Amino acid sequence: MVARTFRSSVATRALPFLTAATLAACATNPATGKKEFSLMSEAQEIQLGQQMDGEVRREMGLYDDPELQRYVESIGMRLARNSQRPNLPWHFTVVDAPAVNAFALPGGYIYLTRGILPFLNDEAQLAGVLGHEIGHVTARHSAQQYTKATSAGIGVTLLSIFVPEARPLQGLTETALGVLFLKYGRDDELQADSLGVDYAAKSGWDPAGVAGMLTTLSRLDEASGSRKGVPNWLSTHPAPADRVQKVRAAVQQASASMTARTETDRSEYLRRIDGIVFGDSPSEGIVRGNTFLHPDLRLALTFPQGWEVQNTKTQVVAKAPERENYMLLQLVPNASGSVEQIARTTMANSGFRQLNGERAEINGLDAYVGTYQGQMQGLGNVGTLAAHIVHERNVYVLAGLAPANQFQGVERQFVAAIRSFRSLSRAEAAEIKPNRVDVYTVRNGDTWQEIAERVTRNTIKPTTLAIMNNYDPSQPPRPGDRIKVVVEG
Ligand SMILES: [Zn+2]
Repeated sequence: MVARTFRSSVATRALPFLTAATLAACATNPATGKKEFSLMSEAQEIQLGQQMDGEVRREMGLYDDPELQRYVESIGMRLARNSQRPNLPWHFTVVDAPAVNAFALPGGYIYLTRGILPFLNDEAQLAGVLGHEIGHVTARHSAQQYTKATSAGIGVTLLSIFVPEARPLQGLTETALGVLFLKYGRDDELQADSLGVDYAAKSGWDPAGVAGMLTTLSRLDEASGSRKGVPNWLSTHPAPADRVQKVRAAVQQASASMTARTETDRSEYLRRIDGIVFGDSPSEGIVRGNTFLHPDLRLALTFPQGWEVQNTKTQVVAKAPERENYMLLQLVPNASGSVEQIARTTMANSGFRQLNGERAEINGLDAYVGTYQGQMQGLGNVGTLAAHIVHERNVYVLAGLAPANQFQGVERQFVAAIRSFRSLSRAEAAEIKPNRVDVYTVRNGDTWQEIAERVTRNTIKPTTLAIMNNYDPSQPPRPGDRIKVVVEG
């Protein structure tokens, strides 16, 4: 949850210049040289990219490290100059998201999440990811994907500020940014892989970096990177079974035709990413077990034991294991009037009928707690216990939602979570620090398990540690190897 993105215009405007009548045209695909039906001219591609880039920057935010941004850009530009579309206005940006992903917009806008960087092993693998994304642009996959999405009505839906109109956990797929997170087709992936190999080889990086990054990203458990509001790499770049094999063949071919020495540059890469934030960042709030802490908004609360907590840009959602019972925390936009009036208006506007309610004090904060009934897509009739809480200059809604026939059974847990909402003191807030990447030299006798416990103090699982260092988790770390670890603060 991020303070700056709570605006009433949270998601999206339609992109009005895109009407089918003006766009239909037959064009030559720059990467393949084939004629194909395209709904977008290059100028329109660029205009669309530019427009959506603004949205990406506002919604996801840039990772605040200008030197790292310049580094990624310099590698991206070198690759793009060796592509079939060197003259597009290319942009390469690291966005401030913990998920492991990379994506492209039409017109030459390429993004990496900060979350993918610790999983790449060297500069050749970074070039591999960037080359793959450049391939999606040069072969116009991203333009075609956008065209498909708009004709299917995706990407132009408004994300409602309160859930009933949009189901919880849908997150970004409901916004204009959702188009970034649609799956590419199998053939698009294979083509982007081989274009990536080609660009890397032409630009002087070891093209095996493409195969290396694919191996690492496919080792990563699909679940491990996907709970942060931004889907992970595999969910947007599906991996056909034969993908790594096909890439290896392309790498061999590319390597055979190369004369110059190629780079992998591992030590330079390690130096660049040493210290970057890993996982949640305090500016968005941090999830520790089932507790949510937001040092900037100075608040904390504890969700029911065992519930899975997702922190997205617009809301924090907790879900009961194996049941469609949810709790969510959001800021009420443009709240004015008494907390009781705000509660009644917000809930009525979201289609909820009030059953009862009263003013309350929650850990010294003024609040209004009520029970409501309503409808939610996919859940049918739901019962809701909602607390509207005034904290500093904001009003939050913390609501528990369950199908009507399950509401009584879970109500006590909703009450306990609502009662746990509290202010964080300045001192407590200052204590909350993100985890960061550090470099560690493996000693004789070290195991992944032992490094995870002793060096990282369990900030990361042993298998994840192995994967982020390009190892199969069954291989032990080699003594003397400089590896990436994750440490607190
Ligand atoms: Zn892809």
